Amino acid sequence: MNDLNIKIAWSVFFALTLGFFLRFTHIEGLQNLLIPILEILGQVFILFLKMIMIPLIFFSLTSSISSLQENKQSSFLWKGTLIYYFSTMVVAVLLTMLVMNIFQPGIHSDIQNMTNPLMTEFNQQPNLFMDGIKSIIKNPFEALASGNIMAIVVFSILFGLALRSDRASIKKVKNWFDGMFDITMIIVNKLMALAPIGIFALLSLLIIQQDLTVFLSLAYFILLVLGVIFFHGVVFLPLILKTFTQIGILNFFSKSKTILITAFATSSSAATLPISISNLENNFKVDQNVSRFVLPLGATVNMDGTALYEAAVALFVANIIGINLGLSDQIFLVFLAMAASIGAPAIPSAGMVTLALVLGALNLPVEYIALFIPIDRLIDTFRTTVNVEGDLVGALVMNKYFNA
Ligand code: ASP
Repeated sequence: MNDLNIKIAWSVFFALTLGFFLRFTHIEGLQNLLIPILEILGQVFILFLKMIMIPLIFFSLTSSISSLQENKQSSFLWKGTLIYYFSTMVVAVLLTMLVMNIFQPGIHSDIQNMTNPLMTEFNQQPNLFMDGIKSIIKNPFEALASGNIMAIVVFSILFGLALRSDRASIKKVKNWFDGMFDITMIIVNKLMALAPIGIFALLSLLIIQQDLTVFLSLAYFILLVLGVIFFHGVVFLPLILKTFTQIGILNFFSKSKTILITAFATSSSAATLPISISNLENNFKVDQNVSRFVLPLGATVNMDGTALYEAAVALFVANIIGINLGLSDQIFLVFLAMAASIGAPAIPSAGMVTLALVLGALNLPVEYIALFIPIDRLIDTFRTTVNVEGDLVGALVMNKYFNA
């Protein structure tokens, strides 16, 4: 174990100890003193990750795409990555729909009568198609300034492709972009030093502040969702990894645990990206052309955990209000859940927002989203961990065949 991993293991241990101690002893004075300090430490860590994530996505994608020449190798990387992302997401959604159809959470329940003042806020039907297009084709300077990751990815791909030209003037710009990426990674590696403190603060707060009473009314649904997320993360993705790369499952989890713990603590695939790129290159010796391309793209579009959650909520809401979604609606739901997860920015609770698209498109009452707000912080931690794990497995699979 390297030094940082040891520090992070200790920070998890201390967070669990402090979190459960404060939770069960209810010493108010100590809580009032520690919570604001933990909040500052956790926020500063997230702010640093967010600070670097936009330059990182922009420079890593442009630099990697401009380095991929038009040959068999790079067309394999493009196609292989997209096929992997698409197929693992389909499996995640189909598995969830199977489980939800068998166990039927929400049916004959009285959840429908639960009132929530927030419900009226969500009573608007978004425009799925046009809103989506408008948010991804944007002035790149506006997208960079506002942190619109999807629009940045679209522009970076176009820009990276244009940088492949042989013209001398363009070659200079390409070198400049490669240099900018290297500088960004130097900053990322320095920021890693903050990870143990940030993770300690965020995990402690998660344990201290989570209100478990709200879980009871939705317990059955939550257990089913977490069951599918666990299956996907602990069985399906590791099996893909083992089959395609021969990397042992324990070896994978042991070397990637810093990344997965960061995803769990921050609930943001994008904020975890700096740590994913740095760790994958250092611990698994992944080719930079692969990691710089597959990981930023994955952080933006590949969200197995989010996709499966969107499908689960739609089927749950349909059950609560007594609507039986037929086969064609359920097939539509597979694509909707995937589109909504691809469109969700890689930040905390983004999946909650795009849920409105899914429910609206199926004519289900959008205001039911309010029911899921109190449980979202916790479920998001698990969704994000599996989202990031999917990106890591994708990068390792692509790496195996990229130079073969
Ligand atoms: N927080 C998730 C992520 O960053 C997105 C979501 O809300 O599902 O991957």
